Amino acid sequence: MEMGERQAIYQVSTLQALARGNYYGSTDMETLLTHGDTGLGTFHAVGGELIVIDGHAYRVLGDGSAVEAATSDTTPFATVTWLREQVPVRLKRQPSIEALKDILTEQVRELGINDVYIVRIDGHFRHAHTRTVPRQTPPYRAMTDVLDDQPVFRFNQREGVLVGFRTPQHMQGINVAGYHEHFITDDRKGGGHLLDYQLDSGVLTFGEIHKLMIDLPADSAFLQADLHPDNLDAAIRAVEN
Ligand code: ZN
Repeated sequence: MEMGERQAIYQVSTLQALARGNYYGSTDMETLLTHGDTGLGTFHAVGGELIVIDGHAYRVLGDGSAVEAATSDTTPFATVTWLREQVPVRLKRQPSIEALKDILTEQVRELGINDVYIVRIDGHFRHAHTRTVPRQTPPYRAMTDVLDDQPVFRFNQREGVLVGFRTPQHMQGINVAGYHEHFITDDRKGGGHLLDYQLDSGVLTFGEIHKLMIDLPADSAFLQADLHPDNLDAAIRAVEN
């Protein structure tokens, strides 16, 4: 693999398409993992939260438990990249999610607010509240309707790993502008899409990415979908929160 490739983000579909109910898996895990070792997303029929860590893809199920995904499992929306080796930053106890975001945002401001950033935090979490989306059946409803039934899980005093992206405002709709983070426990047996957390201590790995590659699905559901950006804001915010 060339160095240039290692610095790209690889994304399956767009957040707009997912928000509109395009839940048909278009790329399998085997393919996804050739494009990155770290990332997040969802699975076909939004049947679980996807977290990619150390080159392994995990599926967090509807009960909050996690299993390693099969290579043939597909995703309708995912973002992965290579987490380049760099000097890790030690994080002390953070009083709130906002305090931690302030630390990250300070780094983003220094480096440039219009790039994409990958975030990985290995740490001890005082609490981590996650959600999953119940698996859907066609005809698919938009994400705003689906999220009404989301189960929430509470992990307390757990070692685990946060994987997230910070997407710039100008890319809202392609992905979630702002932070989007998933969590998995140290034993890789639980996790989900992060709603709230408090970090006791941890190690931050942070990467700036200048290049984005998007694999648009080839299925007719995507090709015929109305993806006009009007009125998508509510759906995108639903995915974000
Ligand atoms: Zn998520």
